[in-house]
Amino acid sequence: MKAYIDQQRCDRAPSCVVKRACPTGAIVQEKGRLFAGGKVSVDEDACEGCAICTRYCPHGAIKMKQ
Ligand code: SF4
Repeated sequence: MKAYIDQQRCDRAPSCVVKRACPTGAIVQEKGRLFAGGKVSVDEDACEGCAICTRYCPHGAIKMKQ
């Protein structure tokens, strides 16, 4: 299992709590502009499939896939 981001739900908040919740640092965010965060994605090599991140996203934007 690997996590992935539902880009339709993700609001790309610069303060995204999920980035800090992942124990392996697999949630990465591109650099954004002034007050807008960049695209959030999952580094699949770093993701261990623990699903902890799915509990933290307030928008339900993180899902798991096989
Ligand atoms: S499933 Fe676990 S390791 Fe993978 S991105 Fe989510 S919190 Fe990180």
